[in-house]
Amino acid sequence: MNEFDLIQSYFNWQITDQAIDLGVGDDAALFNLEPGHQLVTSTDTLVEGVHFFKDSSPADIAYKALAVNLSDIAAMGAVAKCYTLSLTLPKINQNWLKEFSSSLKGSSRLFNVNLVGGDTTRGPLNITISMMGSIEIDSPILRSGARVEDDIYVTGDLGTAALCLKKIEEGVKPSQNELNKLNRPIPRLELGSALKKLANSCIDVSDGLEQDLSHILKSSDMGAVIEIQKLPIDDSVGKYINKTHDWSLPLSGGDDYELCFTADISSRDKIMKLSQELKIKVTKIGVINSSKKLVIDGYDGQTSSYQHF
Ligand code: ADP
Ligand code: MG
Repeated sequence: MNEFDLIQSYFNWQITDQAIDLGVGDDAALFNLEPGHQLVTSTDTLVEGVHFFKDSSPADIAYKALAVNLSDIAAMGAVAKCYTLSLTLPKINQNWLKEFSSSLKGSSRLFNVNLVGGDTTRGPLNITISMMGSIEIDSPILRSGARVEDDIYVTGDLGTAALCLKKIEEGVKPSQNELNKLNRPIPRLELGSALKKLANSCIDVSDGLEQDLSHILKSSDMGAVIEIQKLPIDDSVGKYINKTHDWSLPLSGGDDYELCFTADISSRDKIMKLSQELKIKVTKIGVINSSKKLVIDGYDGQTSSYQHF
């Protein structure tokens, strides 16, 4: 099987979006933006040994490669449309490819996005997806929009993915819920899109709340106080903290892919209503101020969010 057979067999699916004029097979893909809309684009790479284990299932890898990219689009408040896949493989392993491709195809249907092109090369396993979406001009939610007295919110629970990773590294068997949090994060697309009219700033929490919220503060030239006791955590992380008094999992553990956003006090009711409608937990964890510092009220322990270098 050569590179072109591989693409044909595993990555040339029927396009399900009329806005896409041209998908896999030409020098580039074409898709039509609606009038008054901007292209929103973002790239994320998954590297073996950094983002997933050598023996991670190809289905999980494919799902996560897609989900982490969708999470970035969600954090902008945009709608995801299509993506390219750059795949570097050490060799052609048909079983691996079958599982990877079928998971990617299923996840693409689930999130209503189309694969429109990519690149296929030989080398150490590496999966890069570039996601494209659209949004009405002037409505993306930027990191730089936080204002004094904005409420700070996060979706879902924090730290469960990091707890799962910790357990795996320590040879302890994680629960299914913990594995789902690590391997199958749910991009908050619907909520993100609804927030474009409500939030002043937004980021997806991929490297740890403390670090990612700090990106909002830096971009917005603001500070904040968050209350440690208000961080949303599930029972397993709660148990770990009771035992260790170590809050580093929800504060600086990575891989949550929840949204952290800020909004004016006047939007509180609408945000809570949205949370109920979409059945997504949204928790207010603090307030923006002009201090340019992040204060974590009730915690004086260590934080160390993920950095590649
Ligand atoms: P080029 O030499 O013009 O870059 P390629 O031979 O790399 O073209 O790719 C041929 C076609 O297949 C292109 O349309 C490209 O976008 C698509 N393609 C290549 N690899 C992948 C992949 N892993 N997934 C989806 N489409 C791919
Ligand atoms: Mg190419």
